[in-house]
Amino acid sequence: MSVTIVDLGHFAQVNQRSMPLAERLAQVQHDLADYPPPRLTAVSKQVPAEDLRRAHALGLRHFGENYLQEALRKQAALNDLNDIVWHFIGRIQRNKTKNIARYFTWVEGVDHLLIAERLNTARAGMPPLNVLIEVAISGEARKGGCLPEQVPELALAISRLPHLRLRGLMALVSPDRQQANTDFRRMAVLFSTLQHTLPHPAIDTLSMGTSADYLQALEHGATEIRLGTLLFGHRTRESL
Ligand SMILES: *Cc1c(COP(=O)(O)O)cnc(C)c1O
Repeated sequence: MSVTIVDLGHFAQVNQRSMPLAERLAQVQHDLADYPPPRLTAVSKQVPAEDLRRAHALGLRHFGENYLQEALRKQAALNDLNDIVWHFIGRIQRNKTKNIARYFTWVEGVDHLLIAERLNTARAGMPPLNVLIEVAISGEARKGGCLPEQVPELALAISRLPHLRLRGLMALVSPDRQQANTDFRRMAVLFSTLQHTLPHPAIDTLSMGTSADYLQALEHGATEIRLGTLLFGHRTRESL
């Protein structure tokens, strides 16, 4: 499906809670024409399964979750929708690697070789797991992610693991607009460098941009944006 982008100022003025998902999505789908079509991953953490079902009916297929137990419950509830592509987008705890490897198609947020190795082991016997390296691009302000200078070595090591398929990079940038611009630019450089240096054909995904900054991310070459609030409204619960 094609995806479109809308001016965020407009969004801020409407009451998101009263606006149906279809309308929100229609607005998001409105002007992406200026960009190569990115993948829209609907970040559905803390969103009930029936809302995901509605989003699926509207054409969304990629869903991002970051609490394992919550995600597994929703996967069970949506078991009949067999074309959903599940992305694990959060911090990966060591003791969760087994189920994350088995129940997701993408893992965005690998930042340590040990985690990659555990995912690799757990994925044996299944098609390779798509993996993005998370980069702590805005420094210590954000938790999670490896340092930019660690990317080449980690990428090379991951690319040698047979049950993982390294697809690219992922990041959360600074909430400060100016700093975000710098962060996005640096991510684009890291991504391009990785594409040119790694003897690996499948580096095609630069996942960056959330509800607050996805337009900016697209300007800098994001191939995947991850939208939660903009589609589903503000999250109220800690987790489901
Ligand atoms: C929650 C989350 C998002 C979505 O953020 P919104 O501001 O709700 O769009 C994107 N990426 C990650 C890693 C997240 O945890």
